[in-house]
Formats: sequence, C-alpha cells, structure tokens
Amino acid sequence: MLRKLPRVDDLLAQPLLAEAAPEAPRALIRCAARAAIADARARLRAGAQSPDISAEVLAARAADILRRQVAPSLRRVINATGVILHTGLGRAPLAASAGAALAEISCGYCNVQVDLESGDRSQREDHVQWLLQELTGAEAALVVNNNAAATVLALNTLAGGREVVLSRGELVEIGGAFRMPEIMALAGCRLVEVGCTNRTHLRDYQAAITPETALLLCVHQSNYRLQGFTSQTPLAEVATLARAHGIMCAHDLGSGALLDLRRFGLPHEPTAAESLTAGADAVFFSGDKLLGGPQCGIILGRRKPLQAMHENPYYRIFRVDKLTLAALEATLRLFLDAERLPQKHALMSVLTRPLDEIRVRAQELARRIAADCGEWLVVEATPGESQVGGGSLAGHTLPTFVVSLRPAGSRGGESGLSPGDLAWRLRQGEPPIVARIHEDAVLLDLRTVLPDEDQLVGKALAAACRALPT
Ligand SMILES: *Cc1c(COP(=O)(O)O)cnc(C)c1O
Repeated sequence: MLRKLPRVDDLLAQPLLAEAAPEAPRALIRCAARAAIADARARLRAGAQSPDISAEVLAARAADILRRQVAPSLRRVINATGVILHTGLGRAPLAASAGAALAEISCGYCNVQVDLESGDRSQREDHVQWLLQELTGAEAALVVNNNAAATVLALNTLAGGREVVLSRGELVEIGGAFRMPEIMALAGCRLVEVGCTNRTHLRDYQAAITPETALLLCVHQSNYRLQGFTSQTPLAEVATLARAHGIMCAHDLGSGALLDLRRFGLPHEPTAAESLTAGADAVFFSGDKLLGGPQCGIILGRRKPLQAMHENPYYRIFRVDKLTLAALEATLRLFLDAERLPQKHALMSVLTRPLDEIRVRAQELARRIAADCGEWLVVEATPGESQVGGGSLAGHTLPTFVVSLRPAGSRGGESGLSPGDLAWRLRQGEPPIVARIHEDAVLLDLRTVLPDEDQLVGKALAAACRALPT
C-alpha cells in the first residue's frame, strides 16, 4: 500500500487542490500536499485497513489543510462563555476609538519618541502620562508590557538586594508562573512573610522591619477572597508605617479600576487614585483588566521612585511598543468623560448592559435558532450568571440571559450529537464561537456576545446544524 501513495505532483495536478486557494504561494500548496500524504502514510503504518489513498481524496484533504493555513491563525471570535475578562480570549475587548487609533498608527511612522515641537527625542510615556496624572492624581506614570513586568520592575528598583515585607494573606498566585515568592526571587528581593493566612496586623509589619527592609508590599486580593475570621491591615496604615521608618510602600492593585465602579451599579473595586491617596509610593495594575485597554502594566506613583524605575535596565526590556501606546491613549481619553463610558468603552458596555436588553436579545436569538435548528436542538432562553474573570471582582457574578441548546432526543441521539460535539462545531464556524457547556447543554451567554454579533451567532448555528448528518 505504501508504494501506492500518490506523489506531491499527483496532488498538485488535481483541480480540487489547485482551486482551493488560488492566491496561495506555491510553497504553501506543496506543503499542504506533503502534509496530506504524510498523514495517509502514518495511517497506513498504524495499520489502517484499505483506506482510500487516491490522489483525488488526498488532494481534498490537502485542500482542507491549505484553507486552514491561508486563513490567519489569530482570528476574531465570538465570546459566548459569559466570562467577561477571558484571558484565553484576549481579556478586554477594545473600544472602537482604540481600534481606530491602532489602524491609524500601525502602517505608517509615528511620533512615539520624537517631540514634534522641538524635533528632539522625547519619552514614549509622554503620550499617556498626562492622562494618567489627570485621571488619578499621580505625580508620574510608566507603562510596561504587563502587570507582571511592572511588579518585577518595581520590586527590583525599590528593593533589589534587600528585604520586602508581605502579608501571608497576600502571597498570591495569579495563574501560570506568576507567584509572589518566585517573582520576588526573580526581582532579587528577599521576601519576609508576616502575619497569618487569614489575619495580618500592623504590629506584624512593624516587628518585621529591620535595617535590611526596603519595602512594604501590599497585594490586592484580585482573584480570591478571604472570608470568615479575617483581617488585613489597611494600605493607609501600612503606608504610614513605611513613611515613619523612611522606607517605601508599594501596592500591586491587579485589576486596577480607574474610577469607582459603584457609579455604574457594580461592586466597589479599589481604584488607583485611592491607593495613591492612601500613601502608596508606587501602585501598579494591568491595562487589559478593568481598564479595558491593551495588554500592558501601568505604574503610577511619586516622581522619585518612578524616575529610578525608568533608569533601571529592566524598563528597557519591558517597555511597550507604539501600538500599545496608541490603544492605551485612546482608551484613557474615554475616562475623561465618565458619563459616556458605558456607550463608548466596550468593556464598560459589557459590564453595565441592562438585564432587560440581554433578555430581549436572548429571546429573539432563541426564536431564530429554534426556527432554523428545531429539528436538532431544544432551544431555550433562561436566566444565568456571567463572571467578570481575569482576576477582577473576584466572586462577583452579573445577572444575564443565556440561550441554552440541548441536542434533541431523537435526532440528537441518531446523529450522536453531544454538547461537546456541538461546541466543537461552533468553534469551527466562521466566525468561531466559544460557548460554555453546563451539564447536557451548550450555553450562549448574551452578556459577552456583543450586540452586533447576534446575527452571526444565528447564522453560525444554522450552518452547523445543516452540516449535521441527517
Ligand atoms: C492580574 C494580576 C497580576 C498579573 O497581571 P498581568 O497583567 O496579567 O501580568 C499581578 N498581580 C495581581 C494582583 C493581579 O491581579
């Protein structure tokens, strides 16, 4: 059988492959043909019983591979999971104005580090520093690649080679490799743990201060909650203690709200301005969590410590590019007009979307899917809960409506359609839809599906069902 495998040229001669992606570079088409042949060879070696290895069949397989290869790998997807800040789906959706700024800046030159007035070299932070000062009252601001980088830069600058005091209740892991003890070691600091998991008092910090202490660090419990017999020392008291000893106090604020979310009916999340008012010398947070901007880490604080961070070689390693600055500047400008944030700021729209609006959309979409797919699916619009995610507003959910899709008994049974199969089909669609599975249903959460995507979801489901074996 192996000797009967068609050659690459046999596949290239098949119109099916030649016409699959006429604009594709020759090398890519050959690569797809080789991949299809290699796959057939592997299946033969694995003992497949008389598979069809005709040039026509393998050319069809190569055409599928080619179509996948010519499409961009990073694609727009519809987030129907209900997780608002989904790290796997790129955290915050950007505001339209931030998207426009990216389009404007990306394909030409820009003044990222040139002062157009004098023609001299400038600082790349200048484009956003004034906005951050205006919005938070900070003396100075720095922007780096993400909050993990901000943490390393701040720790290394303020306390490299010396001791950092941190409560045992705030020794967090953010996910993956961001764990406070490791970050501390990487930044060249010696971690001094104080207090207990559930309770840390001011006197614990006090007792830990030695001539070797450089910094008292507070970390916001952004992705977990301590409940019950608990007490953490307020930042203001820690900052006052630091000042009395002539050392620094820094706050890892994590999700970093810029304004008080209570004005939009959401729970309070500490803001950057509050940390500064409490007396932190430096506060840092992510740009793509509650700020709703591009991935970056923002450091705010007093002029002197921030100047020292700017001069640290780590800053050069962690600094952001022009695209991040363009999207961040546009996002920050929206906060100057807080009243209109829910209309202009994509993430704030998702967070503040009225439940009634979501319900109406869910019912309409459910009707449409039932009309197109009623043969295969039992469709229902029901109340549910969305999660904020991304280590923000931990433990808080937002009310929502979901369209629940259950494979219909008889037809679902016959075609063997499981919720997992259906979710897979939705992910393969155009655009891909990422849904969540709960028990025996696929749930489409309409809080995170953007309003102009409802039509696409309806169409994708109709297409997915049409493709089912009948
Ligand atoms: C999210 C978070 C981080 C990590 O931020 P990234 O921007 O993902 O690098 C660090 N500390 C806290 C408290 C966080 O919530």
